[in-house]
Amino acid sequence: MIQIDALPAFNDNYIWLLQDTASKRCAVVDPGDAQPVLDWLAAHSGWQLNDILITHHHHDHVGGVERLKNATGAQVHGPAAENIPARDTALGDNDRVQVLGLDFQVIAVPGHTLGHIAYYHGQTPAPLLFCGDTLFAAGCGRLFEGSPAQMHASLNRLAALPDTTLVYCTHEYTLSNLRFARAVEPDNSQVAQRFDEVTRLRAQDRITLPSNLALEKATNPFLRTNETSVKEKVDERTGRSDLDPTAIFAGLRAWKDTF
Ligand SMILES: [Zn+2]
Repeated sequence: MIQIDALPAFNDNYIWLLQDTASKRCAVVDPGDAQPVLDWLAAHSGWQLNDILITHHHHDHVGGVERLKNATGAQVHGPAAENIPARDTALGDNDRVQVLGLDFQVIAVPGHTLGHIAYYHGQTPAPLLFCGDTLFAAGCGRLFEGSPAQMHASLNRLAALPDTTLVYCTHEYTLSNLRFARAVEPDNSQVAQRFDEVTRLRAQDRITLPSNLALEKATNPFLRTNETSVKEKVDERTGRSDLDPTAIFAGLRAWKDTF
């Protein structure tokens, strides 16, 4: 049985910590800073950091990798198409990687960066998805390197995973994302309800993750580009009515960039 906890880092990053309590082995996803992980290991005697999973090359995701590898000898898995410090395993689309006895499928999700990958473990009842800065709770990553078409295709691929999939993204952006979702769909009652819940959680400084895909499909505007309500809002802003779902996505992303 794997337990998953978040180690907060920087202002709003989470380093996901996977723990196999039977063997006292653990793994981390996107350690932008080594210190929270080293502190956890120091507080949990007998535990060994076995693996480091990396989704993309941004510093707030890889900044702690070399120090952690030097301190623990952990294996570093990361995207083949990006420059990842101390990487042992270079991963591409549909590759598989074993972590703490779990079989993860690698899914290429270009957009935020061109080589960005996600890690998916199809367990029941709730599969696991570590998706870095691609799919956020109620939002998605900015397009630093890829095109809107690439990001839209990446998000559609993630959205096709089972509804029960737990979504472990890297940032606590949920509340600001829901402010935007509310502007896009003011009449979506599930968005309004989620906004209230997340507002309560954040007022208590509590985490809003993981999310799940059913909730994302109901409340995340970037997964709802086929919905009439979303299309009409983007049409209204762009003065166009002939936009396809990818152009709707591009319109939403551009709007969010300045929201
Ligand atoms: Zn990033």
